[in-house]
Amino acid sequence: MLNRGDPLELLVATILSAQCTDKRVNIVTSELFKKYRTAADYAGADPAEFQQEIRSTGFFRNKAKNIIGAATIIVERFDGEVPDNMDELLSLPGVARKTANVVLANAFGKNVGVVVDTHVMRVSKRLKLTSRENNQGDKIEKDLSELLPRREWALFSHLLIFHGRACCRARKPTCPICPINHLCPSAGKV
Ligand code: SF4
Repeated sequence: MLNRGDPLELLVATILSAQCTDKRVNIVTSELFKKYRTAADYAGADPAEFQQEIRSTGFFRNKAKNIIGAATIIVERFDGEVPDNMDELLSLPGVARKTANVVLANAFGKNVGVVVDTHVMRVSKRLKLTSRENNQGDKIEKDLSELLPRREWALFSHLLIFHGRACCRARKPTCPICPINHLCPSAGKV
């Protein structure tokens, strides 16, 4: 679980979390959030210094470019506030539907879509809730959103992510003790 406070912190933490563990992101942001408090702070960051501050999260050059770029747009176009709608969030560098859905659901309480990360992809495919490929995140999101009432979208993503970490792991899922193995077409076959 990512540590975050306001929408800006959640946005930054979510961008940093790509290809990185939440634990590592939380270590990095515990210092980062003390230094950078507003979008203007990130927009004015020295790129080389910022890269070093987030280096341990991996892909640090690209992440630094995206965070500074997104913050600059937030300052210039959105009055320094993280936008609370999908179209404007998608206009920020480094923000695709997954990140936008995380921010909308968790910072603004808006169920605009289902968050589809690597855990949601894997578990929903094993449960045969979708048959899409891993590179079809947007289509997986559409399949899942058609199966569930909108009010359940955010909670459903959280549950699948939790289940994917605790039980339905990529390697050696613990099917014999899985609480939903009686519902799962893949039980014992992965
Ligand atoms: S039964 Fe196995 S494959 Fe199915 S959800 Fe549980 S852990 Fe995952």
